[in-house]
Amino acid sequence: MASPAAGRIRVTRLDEERLRDLYRFTASTLETLRPVPFGALIVDSRGGERLIRATNAVMREADPSSHAELRAVRLACKKLKSPSLAGYTLYSTCEPCPMCMANALWARLDRVVFGATIADASRHCLQIYVSAKEIAKRSDMNCKVDGPVMRELFNTLFTHPNMRKAFRSWSNRRVSTQRR
Ligand SMILES: [Zn+2]
Repeated sequence: MASPAAGRIRVTRLDEERLRDLYRFTASTLETLRPVPFGALIVDSRGGERLIRATNAVMREADPSSHAELRAVRLACKKLKSPSLAGYTLYSTCEPCPMCMANALWARLDRVVFGATIADASRHCLQIYVSAKEIAKRSDMNCKVDGPVMRELFNTLFTHPNMRKAFRSWSNRRVSTQRR
């Protein structure tokens, strides 16, 4: 059954279960010293078994490329000892940025499903305004991109008081005077 909030997006009950699992996993960082609203989950597209989960670790690893989706792909490939994640699906709390979406395509992921959008995240931190669907469309790879799904729920990760406070210390925090 498709979620009413998902409109024409093909989202199954299983997708929603996985997104809720990812939401809980990511929300568990909100009570820590380094809260993050970005989390990613990779599952077997057919069987649904979880392969890996990861959160954003840019601050912890002092690495601007340590986005949740990119880390999940890295960890998954290491675990499988393969550069290919064909046969796997990536779930993300937020629409993957161009870097992460390009990496998902290079990893040959079957499908990407995301919660909040780049526009949602842009209210809190700097973003690059190219949609994940656009990146996929302009590639040779065949990766389905579905989202936003359960957008309101995923937006609560960004608006949690601890997260709002943490954003102030982020080097890429959004400043209201900045132009789009
Ligand atoms: Zn990213």
